[in-house]
Amino acid sequence: MVDPTSDLNEDVDEDEAPRCAVCGDPVVSADHRVVTWVEEGSARTEHFCDATCRDEWDGP
Ligand SMILES: [Zn+2]
Repeated sequence: MVDPTSDLNEDVDEDEAPRCAVCGDPVVSADHRVVTWVEEGSARTEHFCDATCRDEWDGP
């Protein structure tokens, strides 16, 4: 739960954080996962909250 009055999490702004490809939440956790692959010659990247969302992903 994020306290909107807190400035403690200013390292990552939720508006700028990548969104989890599974649940759509801002990925600001230290446990987040990143998957990269090449599709049609372009580098693709998806972000996930944690290993649980990563396991639920139905992509490459
Ligand atoms: Zn997620």
